[in-house]
Amino acid sequence: MSPSILDAVQALGLHLRGSGTKRTLACPLPGHDDTRASAVIFLEQGRFHCSVCTPGRSLSAAELLGATGFTARAASGFTSSDARSTWALAQARTRDESTSARAEDEEVYGYLASRGLGAAWEERAYGIVARSMGLPRAIVHWPAGGYRIVLPLYDVTTGELVNLQARSVRQGAQPKTLFPRGTRARGLVFANSSGLRMLSGERAESAVVLAEGLTDHLALSIHTALPVISAPGTTMAATAISSWVRDRKLIVALDGDRAGELAAGEAVRLAHLAGARSVARARWPGKAKDACEALEALGARGFRAIAETWEKL
Ligand SMILES: [Zn+2]
Repeated sequence: MSPSILDAVQALGLHLRGSGTKRTLACPLPGHDDTRASAVIFLEQGRFHCSVCTPGRSLSAAELLGATGFTARAASGFTSSDARSTWALAQARTRDESTSARAEDEEVYGYLASRGLGAAWEERAYGIVARSMGLPRAIVHWPAGGYRIVLPLYDVTTGELVNLQARSVRQGAQPKTLFPRGTRARGLVFANSSGLRMLSGERAESAVVLAEGLTDHLALSIHTALPVISAPGTTMAATAISSWVRDRKLIVALDGDRAGELAAGEAVRLAHLAGARSVARARWPGKAKDACEALEALGARGFRAIAETWEKL
């Protein structure tokens, strides 16, 4: 499958400005030290254009990735040690009661409250990044771009914290989430505390929830006592399945749209191959497409009632 223009934006860690289907950005092409926003991305057509580097023509997502040397580039310099130190700072920030921090972080708490995710604070499930933090170079632009919520990503085979994903708290942000420029995301998962213990090898009898996406992960972490393992994107859901699923009851709680259905089918197949004891599919009520929409439609109590049916499986 060829990458979408948003895949390319995400992989390259680009910051899009403006709104609507035509967004401006600082040109990422090598040799163009762009201090103005000379480049444009046409979201509907999925094309990139720079008035300096590609006059009179545009690039597809694959061409853009190729032109930036993305596929050949080993790494951005963002290491798992950077991920761990950033996560420690970002988590501490959620406990910072100073007036300046509270005011600057109001957009974060407001965003989470509006999505019914305020209780993720008690779970210590997310961290907050801010401009004053001295962030690693690869992610230094995140706070100014509205990418303020961060969650740690764990290697699915070792349970080690190796990367981060950030979520924008601004309306209509595209893309909604970012990885540090040039880092890997496949085979990495979000995990709640019991999910993390499971990845680290702890055996338990309960069912495990497989979900997708940062906000769905928060919604499920708040409302179920079960281990929750979530891929940081639908196309990566199948790569979340690993030896942890052996002898476990798996609840596949992915999106109800076509991409989610495809990913769920593949996850179910791989879970059986990896020795899952049983696999069940979560179904969202009515028109809800995913966990967050179900939470919005049902409220906390109704959503919790669905999660409780999984605990009895
Ligand atoms: Zn350029």
